[in-house]
Amino acid sequence: MSEKTNDTDMVRDLAGRVTGPVHAPGTDAYDEARTGMQLLDRHRPGAVVEAADGEDVRAAVSWAAGRGLPVSAQLTGHGLGAGMEGGVLIVTHRLGEVRVDPDRSTAWVGAGATWQMVADAAAEHGLAPLSGSAPGVGAVSYTLGGGVGLLARRYGFAADHVRRVDLVTVDGRLRQVTEEGEPDLFWAVRGGGAGAFGVVTGMEIGLFPVPRIYGGSLYLDMTAEPGALEAWRRWTGTVPEELTSGVSTLVYPDMDGVPEELRGRQVAQVSVAWSGAPEQGPAVVEPLRSAAPVLFDTLREMPYAESGEVFDEHRDQAGFRGRSVLVDRLDEEALAGLARLTGSAPFFCVVWLRHLGGALARGPEAANAVGHRGAAYALTVMTFADPEDTGAMRDLREEAAALFDEHAVGRSFTLGFGPMDEEEVREVFDPRDHERLTRLRAEYDPGGILHSNRPIPAGR
Ligand SMILES: Cc1cc2nc3c(=O)[nH]c(=O)nc-3n(C[C@H](O)[C@H](O)[C@H](O)COP(=O)(O)OP(=O)(O)OC[C@H]3O[C@@H](n4cnc5c(N)ncnc54)[C@H](O)[C@@H]3O)c2cc1C
Repeated sequence: MSEKTNDTDMVRDLAGRVTGPVHAPGTDAYDEARTGMQLLDRHRPGAVVEAADGEDVRAAVSWAAGRGLPVSAQLTGHGLGAGMEGGVLIVTHRLGEVRVDPDRSTAWVGAGATWQMVADAAAEHGLAPLSGSAPGVGAVSYTLGGGVGLLARRYGFAADHVRRVDLVTVDGRLRQVTEEGEPDLFWAVRGGGAGAFGVVTGMEIGLFPVPRIYGGSLYLDMTAEPGALEAWRRWTGTVPEELTSGVSTLVYPDMDGVPEELRGRQVAQVSVAWSGAPEQGPAVVEPLRSAAPVLFDTLREMPYAESGEVFDEHRDQAGFRGRSVLVDRLDEEALAGLARLTGSAPFFCVVWLRHLGGALARGPEAANAVGHRGAAYALTVMTFADPEDTGAMRDLREEAAALFDEHAVGRSFTLGFGPMDEEEVREVFDPRDHERLTRLRAEYDPGGILHSNRPIPAGR
């Protein structure tokens, strides 16, 4: 670590105003603090502040705003968009407090909490949060972007159950954003993400009485039965709202370390979470077993806190990009085309399909900014890029998305991985909501200093 670099004016000045550590470029601590799940386009800030409390967040935002410098927040890096150049990156992992109120079935969740931390705390009271497929994801950013989880069809978007958000805006105020106190911001951050309006220090969310689920994955052999995706689609038309499912498809590499049964085969991993009576789960899932030869089966009854095993996703850092499409229906021909296109890709490519509908379509009492809640399915095509995204990868993602043009209604906020530009973000929202978000951005961040992973224009 170079003393000289560490001694820059910026870092010294900031360090005098916050209690958490501040890191300068060129140090190991800086690299560690700015690096998360996504390895492409990492932020290159002038300083990283490891906020120790809400007052540190307030001080860092004010400091950057006072100088017209960009500012952004990060916890795990799962949702990193385009990296920020210069300015101040606030990392929030020290704000990991989770407090459950079992009488009200709510939790206070600090900006540094992952879903696993929330699920563990809730489980002590027989409750569950509306967490998603990966327990290592940050609860705050996921929730404020909408959040499509394992109980989504039964209870809706995570953003539909937010009660309060503590948000530092660029004027240096720590606001308690509630429906009564700040109705515009309360509408905007629930679904519009918080990144464009301020930096969140914590939020209050609803919890649900789901101590156990029946869940896991069936790994179906698509090389033997290419119609497996269509069989899943047909099955989703028959299931009740207590069942939320998704399917990922990929061709497993033919190499050591990959289980023999999967090597070189195109596989559809159908992941299900059944939150009805656990003993009824096997019967609901049974029809899927005849969709294609079953290569692996991880279905079992489990405590909700172990629900990270349902999708059992890749947990290592990686470079990846994704293109999402929300559709109001899936057709057989497009699914077959998707399987052919991605199955023959010359690079590693994973398709995610999520079954939506149910409570997702209904919406909360207090309206929020979640877009296209009537969509029936979400599709994400992901490619893994090392060391950088290529034109061929981008073309494949767009070609795959185009197969679904006829029934496309927009893009997903949280399920579209990697950067989106302002035009792409426009497709995340209903047009009138996007206009309202743009007006609010101009009101709360007139200088456009907040660097968000989903950029909403600052009111042009
Ligand atoms: C493997 C994987 C699985 C996923 N599964 C699901 C899923 O099942 N359902 C779903 O809906 N989504 C899912 N996601 C998407 C995920 O919800 C988003 O990527 C989310 O933004 C990640 O939040 P994070 O804090 O972990 O990531 P980060 O990259 O740390 O944060 C993402 C962005 O949020 C903003 N932000 C972060 N913290 C704050 C803060 N305190 N205040 C204001 N803005 C902030 C910043 O703009 C930041 O760039 C998944 C992502 C991955 C990579």
